[in-house]
Amino acid sequence: MKNVKHAKCVRCGRIYAAAPDLTSCACGGILDIVYDYDYIRSTFTKDDLAQRRDSTMWRFRELLPVEKDTPLPPLRVGGSPLYEADALAQELGLAKLYIKDDGINPTASLKDRASAMAVAKAREAGAQVIACSSTGNAASSLAGNAAAAGLSTYIFVPSRAPKGKVAQLMTFGATVVSVQGSYEDTFELSRAAIEKWGWYNRNAAINPYLSEGKKTVGLEIMEQLNWAAPDYIAISVGDGCTIAGLWKGLKDLHAIGFIDRLPRLISVQAEGCCPLNRAIETGEDWRPMEENTLADSIAVGVPRNADKALMAIRESDGLTVNVSDQEIMAAQKLLGRRCGVFGEPAGVTGTAGLKKLCQAGRIPSDAVVVSVVTGSGLKDVANAIAACGEPISIPGDMALLEAAFRQAGIRA
Ligand SMILES: *Cc1c(COP(=O)(O)O)cnc(C)c1O
Ligand SMILES: [Zn+2]
Repeated sequence: MKNVKHAKCVRCGRIYAAAPDLTSCACGGILDIVYDYDYIRSTFTKDDLAQRRDSTMWRFRELLPVEKDTPLPPLRVGGSPLYEADALAQELGLAKLYIKDDGINPTASLKDRASAMAVAKAREAGAQVIACSSTGNAASSLAGNAAAAGLSTYIFVPSRAPKGKVAQLMTFGATVVSVQGSYEDTFELSRAAIEKWGWYNRNAAINPYLSEGKKTVGLEIMEQLNWAAPDYIAISVGDGCTIAGLWKGLKDLHAIGFIDRLPRLISVQAEGCCPLNRAIETGEDWRPMEENTLADSIAVGVPRNADKALMAIRESDGLTVNVSDQEIMAAQKLLGRRCGVFGEPAGVTGTAGLKKLCQAGRIPSDAVVVSVVTGSGLKDVANAIAACGEPISIPGDMALLEAAFRQAGIRA
C-alpha cells in the first residue's frame, strides 16, 4: 500500500507495519493508520473522483488502507443520500440542515462501512472466519458482508439486541451467541473466544481498519457538499469508533487540500449511558457507566475507542450533548414526519442532540449543519411503534371508519 505509511499507537506512539491482521498495541492503546498525504496528493484529485462511476465507499480508494489487488466485498456499501432538510431546518432555526441517511446501507446501518473494510482486510490476511462482539449492528453488517464474500462468522451479541438485528444474523448464516449480560460481558467473552480459536478480529478498537471504513461517511458528506465544509456535524456516539472515523475522514481531506476548514463535531450520547461526553464535560478521565437507554446500539458502558473519540471531539472543538430516551423517541417521530427518514433510536440520537442544542440557543442561527442518521428504524420496530403510536384498528366498515375518524378528531 503506497498510500499508507504505517500504524501508530495513539497512546504510546509505537509504530507497527500495516499488516492486515493488526490488533491493538502492546501497551493496550489503539492503533491509527497513518497515510502518506504527499503521495496521495500527487496521485488523487477532485477531478479524478468526479469521473468515477463507482458510488460506493470504494470510490475513495486512494484514502483507504487496502492493497491494489484486494478483491472488494460484493455488497454495495456507502453512497448514501444527503438530503436537504429545509422544513426541519426551519423548525430548528437553522440556516441549512442536511440529513445523511446511512440507514440505506445493505444491512441498514453505517456499520457496513466498517464491516466491508474488515472483510477486505480479512481476505488480505487469508482468513476464512471473522468474529466480533457487537450491540447488534456491527454484528449484522459483518454477517451480511462476510456471507456475500463467502466467509463465515462467529458473532457475540448481548441478549437485549432487538429482534430485527438478530433476524438478520440468522438469515446471513452466522453462528450467533446471545450473551446473557451487558455489552461489556459480551465483548469479554468474544475476546476470549477469538484468542482461543484464532479468528480474524472485527472488534471495535482492536481492529484499527474499522474506523478507516467508517471515515468514508465523512468523505462522502464533503463530496456531496461540493467540498464546502458545514459548521457542524452531529452524530450519535457509543463505543466511539464512528465519530473517530468521521473525524479521520475530515482530517484526511484537509491534509490533501480537498477542504480548507474543518467542521465542529457534535457528540450525542444517551443520558443513561454517556461516559465519553461526561469525560469531556468534566475534564476528567472517562469512567464506565451503566447501559441504561433504549438506544441499544449506543448503550456502551465501557467504550473501547475512548482515546480516539475523545481526541476527535476535542480536536474539532466539538460540542457534547446528552439526550433522554423521550428526546430520542421524539426525534424518531420528527425525522419520520419532516423528512421521511426512518431511523432506529441510536440512529436518530444525533438529530435529537442537535434539536436540544438548537433549543438551548447553543447553535448560531446562520449555521450549516449535517446530522447523520446511523441506522434504520426497521431494525427495531417495537421502539418505533412505542415512539410514534398504533394505527386505527377497526373492521372493514365505512360507518365504523367515520366513527373512528370522528373520535380521533380527524377531518378527512
Ligand atoms: C454503532 C452505532 C453507533 C455508534 O457508533 P460507535 O462507533 O459505537 O460510537 C450509532 N448508531 C448506530 C445505529 C450504531 O449501530
Ligand atoms: Zn502503545
